[in-house]
Amino acid sequence: MKKIGVLTSGGDSPGMNAAIRAVVRAAIYNDLKVVGIKRGYEGLINGDIENMSLSSVADIIHRGGTMLRTARSEDFKTEKGFSKALNVINIFGIDGIVVIGGDGSFRGAEKLSQAGISTIGLPGTIDNDLAYTDYTIGFDTAINTVLNAISNIRDTSTSHGRANIIEVMGRHCGDIALYAGLAGGAESIIVPEEEFSIDEICKRLIQGRNRGKLHSIILLAEGVVKNSYEVASEIEEKTGIETKLTILGHIQRGGSPTAFDRILASRMAGKAVELILDNKSSRVIGIKGNEIIDMDISEALTIEKKLNQDIYRLAKVLSI
Ligand code: ADP
Repeated sequence: MKKIGVLTSGGDSPGMNAAIRAVVRAAIYNDLKVVGIKRGYEGLINGDIENMSLSSVADIIHRGGTMLRTARSEDFKTEKGFSKALNVINIFGIDGIVVIGGDGSFRGAEKLSQAGISTIGLPGTIDNDLAYTDYTIGFDTAINTVLNAISNIRDTSTSHGRANIIEVMGRHCGDIALYAGLAGGAESIIVPEEEFSIDEICKRLIQGRNRGKLHSIILLAEGVVKNSYEVASEIEEKTGIETKLTILGHIQRGGSPTAFDRILASRMAGKAVELILDNKSSRVIGIKGNEIIDMDISEALTIEKKLNQDIYRLAKVLSI
């Protein structure tokens, strides 16, 4: 009987538990043995591995975080650490590994598959920064978290007649800011992929105030500027409108996954197990349109992520 391992690696994201659950259940349904590898590649190196059963993944589909825990492993990037990992895979008789994580974790999976280990990657990151897939597991939950924050901030912003900058995550990718900004009716969306002009933002704020608007929301992606407080004070200085900054930080990484993320995670994991049963390796799972797809891991990692220009333009039109 084939034995597969599942691990979560790098930054966590809501829906990782739903993905683990689905990998374990689909594998057992298909008569595979499954082991859980704790704390990503770090646990792999240290043999921190346990057998998974149907009940080990009970009561987790709705929980944020990852029951297998996660880690960043510098050791795994070294020759010594990597060969330790290969040894552990051999000792535990693991035939294939499902890696749930972001682009860094996929590079690790790519290396494992080049060393002859079957690997399948599931995109687990709130950033939505993997170009080969329309959505990653956790992104939808994160933008809904941002949306709730926008609503709360809008209430108090209206009472005081303030402008608010909300800084969101995404590293070099502006998707969280863009999608949450569109859904939340933000006046301005500032993303790393596009030039921005403070004067243009100030002009919009002043025009809005002159029309009687009581609040303004500016969504700012991390990775655009080093110091968001400076942007807030420059806007305040130039417009005379009191401008507050809220950095949302790690609340975006937690919380119960949305229905969309649970379904996405379950479908992707189901596909991963299908590929393993077909003896496929070195693939990553994604979604295009509403279809679950798979692609060669190295090919997927070479595709450059671009901002969706249609959505960006639309957000601008609607925030006139
Ligand atoms: P994410 O998967 O969320 O992008 P990281 O970039 O931190 O997170 O990567 C997670 C882990 O994947 C790293 O700690 C490391 O163990 C492994 N990893 C990242 N890049 C490589 C690489 N080029 N080669 C081998 N392993 C890598």
